[in-house]
Amino acid sequence: MNSLFIHNVRLFTGGEPVEGGLLVRDGKIAAVGDIDGADAEASIDGHGGWLLPGMIDVHIHGADGYDLMDGTARSVEAVSLACARTGCTSFLATSVSSSLEDLYAMISGVAAAAGRESGARIAGIHIEGPYLNAKRKGMQNEKYLRNPDISEMEAILRRAGSLVRMVTLAPELPGGMEMIAFLKERGVIAAVAHSDATYEEALLAFRGGASHVTHCCNGMRPIHHRDPGLVLAAFEMPHVSVQAIVDDVHLHPAMVRLLYREKGADKMVLITDALQAMGLGDGTYVFGGHEVTVAHGVATLSDGTLASSTVTMNEALAKAVRAGIPLPDAVAMATRTPADLLGLPNKGRIEPGADADLVLMSESFEALRTFVNGRQVFPC
Ligand SMILES: [Zn+2]
Repeated sequence: MNSLFIHNVRLFTGGEPVEGGLLVRDGKIAAVGDIDGADAEASIDGHGGWLLPGMIDVHIHGADGYDLMDGTARSVEAVSLACARTGCTSFLATSVSSSLEDLYAMISGVAAAAGRESGARIAGIHIEGPYLNAKRKGMQNEKYLRNPDISEMEAILRRAGSLVRMVTLAPELPGGMEMIAFLKERGVIAAVAHSDATYEEALLAFRGGASHVTHCCNGMRPIHHRDPGLVLAAFEMPHVSVQAIVDDVHLHPAMVRLLYREKGADKMVLITDALQAMGLGDGTYVFGGHEVTVAHGVATLSDGTLASSTVTMNEALAKAVRAGIPLPDAVAMATRTPADLLGLPNKGRIEPGADADLVLMSESFEALRTFVNGRQVFPC
């Protein structure tokens, strides 16, 4: 039996943090609270730090100079380690619009790395594009954008097996509604973004099976009082959850608060949408076939279009709290809510029986130690 006692921590079990300890046995959380871990094989003094469930990022493209579209297991492994450093223990490897060949290479890279990650676990693949509206393309490469094609998606799902967990598309494109129904039937989350959908078109998409909004407000028709668009349709549909890039660039803090008031911590998830510059800083990179310049942490194309982010999950958590979201809710938005979105009932929570995916964090939101299934993966 493999056991670890983490004591002298403030535990995030749902509400306000509570002082106590946590016992890990065989990769699972065995006990939580005011417990005695004297017979554990190893123990760690948390020195009063926070113990959170490991965070879950459902939208990340790369990190540390590695782009998941490289199509190599090495890139996936690098992202896995970068995530662990930031307190993130599961992620959806996210594609960008590309040729089918490049998407297949990405899928092969992820499949080769899955199950042998040294850091954060691969929770699956998020296919962002190519079925997106050129009018709201953001940094997606227009060259690859096309209308939804069910036979192509069938081939992608055959190739990727159960790895595909989410597909982001523009529902108003010809074939968009059929694609949403097709994905929902197969248990894949149909998410919308890079879309010019009107309020009415978006309502149809949500009624037809779309259940999630990728980087809400970014890459979509903006809110207008006579033309409320996709965002207000999402507000009015209780089953719809939204992603937020909380990096002080993609969303004004007042918009972060509005999303929180409308959707609540149960239907809003923090994401990074990070590109390979995450962890490296300013410089020039290639992403989605474009040259991307990162200056002061902000990634843009030459025309000023925002191109992904460099924020990390722990920074996003800090910024969400700074924007005014209560700490326990911000933690839920990075942990339990994305776990529920992905149908992972044993992740994103600190409770007996759950996977021991944990992060010991300082009050300044620095990840001090990260554990996946009870094994320390950062620092390693
Ligand atoms: Zn996007």
